[in-house]
Amino acid sequence: MRGKLVVGNWKMNGGLAANAALLGELTSGWIGTQGREVAVCVPYPYLMQAQAALAATPIAWGAQDVSEHAAGAYTGEVSAAMLVEFGCRYAIVGHSERRQHFGDTDEVVGAKARAALAAGITAIACVGETLAEREAGTTESVVLRQLDAVLRAVAGEAPKLVVAYEPVWAIGTGRTATPEQAQEVHATLRQRLRAAGAGTVSLLYGGSVKADNAKTLFAREDIDGGLIGGASLKASEFLAIARA
Ligand code: PEP
Repeated sequence: MRGKLVVGNWKMNGGLAANAALLGELTSGWIGTQGREVAVCVPYPYLMQAQAALAATPIAWGAQDVSEHAAGAYTGEVSAAMLVEFGCRYAIVGHSERRQHFGDTDEVVGAKARAALAAGITAIACVGETLAEREAGTTESVVLRQLDAVLRAVAGEAPKLVVAYEPVWAIGTGRTATPEQAQEVHATLRQRLRAAGAGTVSLLYGGSVKADNAKTLFAREDIDGGLIGGASLKASEFLAIARA
C-alpha cells in the first residue's frame, strides 16, 4: 500500500535513559494522521522498551536487521519470530552499513526480506549506490540489481515490502541527493516494482534528510517518505520531518 511513511533508524545509538526521553518526546509530540505513519527502528535490546512506550500510540517500531534463518545455531542472530514477540511492524534489511561492514550480499538481503515478510513483518529493503558507482554512471544498474535480488526472493509477496533508496554517499555525510536525483532513481525503482506487480509499494528516500530539506524531497512524485538516521535521534527534528 503506497502510504506516506517516515522511519527513524537509530543505528547503534541510545541508552535506557536517553531512549525514555526521546520516546516520551515523540509520543507527546506526534499526532497520527490518516494515511501517514511514523516508526522507529531501534537496537534489538531496546525493542521491549520501545514496545512499552509506543504500544498505545500511533507510532510503530521495528528492528534494524533480521536473520534470514528461522532458528538454531546462529550465534548473535535474531529471528523474525523473535521480533514478532516484541511487536515489531518493521525490519530494515540491506542497509548499506550492513552490506559494507557485515558482508550482507544481495542474496542474504533477499533472504532476510523473505524471512521478515513470512513472519508478518514489513521488510524495509534498502538499495543505493556508492559515490564511485554514481560517478561511473552505474547507479541504475546497481539499485536494480539490489532490488531484483529482493524481488526474486520474496516473489509474490513483493507488494508487502517497503523499499528505501539510500545513496551511500549521502548517508551520515550531510550531503543529500537533490530532489531531482532522488526522484530519478525512485522513478526507475517504481517502474521495476510495477513490472513485478508491486507498484503500490512505499518508496522512501534516505540520506541526510533534515527538517529543512524533507519537504522538497517528499514533494516529488515517487518519494513516499523517508528513512532517517541522525535526525531521528532528536525528537523535534524527527517530528518536523514526519510532518513534512
Ligand atoms: C540511514 O542510516 O538510513 C540514514 C539515512 O542516515 P542519515 O539520515 O544520518 O544520513
